[in-house]
Amino acid sequence: MKSVEIDYKLDKIHEECGVFGFYKNDDDLDIVSITHDALYGLQHRGQESVGMTIIDNQQAYTCKDLGIISTVFNHKNLSKLPNGVISVGHVRYTSSDYLDRAATQPLVMRYIEGSMALANNGSITNFPEIRNRLEQGGSIFQSNSHAEIIGFLIATNMINSDTIEDAILSTMNDLKGAYSMVISSPSKLIGLRDPHGFKPLCIGKLKNSYMISSESCAIESIGGTFIRDIEPGEMVVIDSDGFHSYHSKVKKKTSLCLFEYVYLARPDSVIDGVDVNVARKKAGEILYRENPVRADIVCGVPDSGLTAAQGYSAASGIEYATAFIKNKYIGRTPAALGNDKKERLLNMRLNVLKNVVDGKRVVIIDDSIVRGNTSAHIVKILRQAGAKEVHMRISSPEFKHACYFGVDLPEGDDFICNQYSVKELNKKIGADSLAFLSVEGLHQIAEGCKIGLCDGCFTGDYHADKPKMKFEDKFSKKINEL
Ligand code: SF4
Repeated sequence: MKSVEIDYKLDKIHEECGVFGFYKNDDDLDIVSITHDALYGLQHRGQESVGMTIIDNQQAYTCKDLGIISTVFNHKNLSKLPNGVISVGHVRYTSSDYLDRAATQPLVMRYIEGSMALANNGSITNFPEIRNRLEQGGSIFQSNSHAEIIGFLIATNMINSDTIEDAILSTMNDLKGAYSMVISSPSKLIGLRDPHGFKPLCIGKLKNSYMISSESCAIESIGGTFIRDIEPGEMVVIDSDGFHSYHSKVKKKTSLCLFEYVYLARPDSVIDGVDVNVARKKAGEILYRENPVRADIVCGVPDSGLTAAQGYSAASGIEYATAFIKNKYIGRTPAALGNDKKERLLNMRLNVLKNVVDGKRVVIIDDSIVRGNTSAHIVKILRQAGAKEVHMRISSPEFKHACYFGVDLPEGDDFICNQYSVKELNKKIGADSLAFLSVEGLHQIAEGCKIGLCDGCFTGDYHADKPKMKFEDKFSKKINEL
């Protein structure tokens, strides 16, 4: 078979953030260590910055920086935070190559009533319009963070509102796109989810205390109990009396990101009534029914391909085997690396167990193909390890369209599926066969989901308006011109 030329620009997909908040009603709980531990449960949602703010006696104390939890937090800096009443935590990934320290969250803003800490997961599609409008009115900003304009709008709306609840509901009237947020006022913890419900957000309980989290796995990881999901368009306010629910009057077609079930969320989470691990297994089962093949073993690409491979194995009766060992300690690839170094890095990330695949017909399951580089590499190393046949199956449909709602995906021809048909792509990556889950199959994996689902990056059909204009970062442009 003709060898393939591989561009080693790595293709990983990233969620943009994870959020967490805690309201302490039990004196014996240590809110700093609880927030620290819960953020570990959300680390998969963002590895570029992390932070927590503690509210104590109506004052905000923050520890945050670029990095992951184990590099940012240490005994020295965490011991300076008080064991207060409310916490807000955040992990972040940014699609920008420029890591802006000013945009690390929680953002703490001082307004007429005191301090407010904000942590957001999402992308506001009318951010450019709102930002321009505010700048025209003389407002100044420290960063390009969407959370910053949300905080600004809330603080402005406070002037004409009796309560922070009213100010936030007024702000929700102005915002378009995706946002799942945790906000602290001096005396309340507030969680809100946009009317489409793009991103998950849920409530949990530990003793008499309550928490809000992007995913249920973080609640359970600290010994808490999942209560329920926050509904699209709902705002939950937690204070010493428990939690209270409010609804935005903005009604939209609901649209939870289907890719949460395929890849983004942790498998031990349950989102809007669907168990993520069960959904991934189902994806493998449907993938076999839609695209069967004769083989000796079925293997998954770690991590999210593993459960789908188990599903493929269960449906087909083909033996499930572990073909790859993944090194989890390798971070983001510097853009300036040469191709030989990037190939080495891919090898360091994923090593094949030769004795498992040698002489075998192998079905390999991965969660997605973006640029195709990783797929070509996987086929290549499986063949080098002696695999007789390599059949690639993908547990999501072909990525072809941009995401405007907070998942870092490329656009247009950067998707390899926009450049080649499945048959051509199969040839390019060097596999014996290649097949994707259908869009119908993708919807079936989330059967029982309590809300509507977004499949926009696969179909080009979005349930929400796309951004009308691009944000022009005048400040960065000026710096570049210097
Ligand atoms: S466009 Fe794709 S990645 Fe973005 S929210 Fe919709 S399903 Fe998720």
